[in-house]
Amino acid sequence: MQAENTKDTNHLYAFVEEKADQVTNWLYRKIKKGPLGHGHFSMIVGNSCSGKSLVLIKLQELLKESGGIEKPYVFCQPLVDRNDLITGVIRSRNNKRMEAVSFDTKEKIEQIFHDHDIVVVDEIQLTPHDLQSFFLKELHLFLDRGGLFIAAGLDYNSLGGEFIFSALLKSRSHKIHRLYSLCNMCGKPADRFDQRLINGIPANINMPDFVGPTDSITYEPRCSDCLIVKK
Ligand SMILES: [Zn+2]
Repeated sequence: MQAENTKDTNHLYAFVEEKADQVTNWLYRKIKKGPLGHGHFSMIVGNSCSGKSLVLIKLQELLKESGGIEKPYVFCQPLVDRNDLITGVIRSRNNKRMEAVSFDTKEKIEQIFHDHDIVVVDEIQLTPHDLQSFFLKELHLFLDRGGLFIAAGLDYNSLGGEFIFSALLKSRSHKIHRLYSLCNMCGKPADRFDQRLINGIPANINMPDFVGPTDSITYEPRCSDCLIVKK
């Protein structure tokens, strides 16, 4: 958790929470309405601090509270070695957290889709490359069986481009829920990009697409006008 983002959370929180509630309620109604006879795939996208994980945490709270969901459900995330992610835990920017199943093998992905009617995945853009094709195949079989799939994650990277797996999944989804935060520079709504900073200075385009935050590498939401991609 980065200090500057924690500081901003109170300022951002009212509209982020409000929008998160709207999306959560939409998804909850969708789950309660089933079975539909055909699958549904919702994708939640937006940059950091926009409330993506918050939606999932709120949804799990609703499902637990209601007690009326007979369908087996699971919340999960790809298992990756990053110090900003905790294995088995989904965490929001305002430090709410919930338990989640981690996957890092094809066997685990198959088990997740076979054992549940509702599958929810956070940080979908971090799905390892060598699992993506298998994941997609299992997802389509799951949707054909009438499953309900919800994925949340970043769709744009800090270099001004897109995360390829998120872009592909958006094209296959039935509904996209776009969340937003505010640009750290000008205060305008910002729904795509995060600026990568190294000791406070915009990072160079030649850095890898995937780099987790550290003490020196930080990310902050920015609008497309204020995003700096140094060549
Ligand atoms: Zn801006």
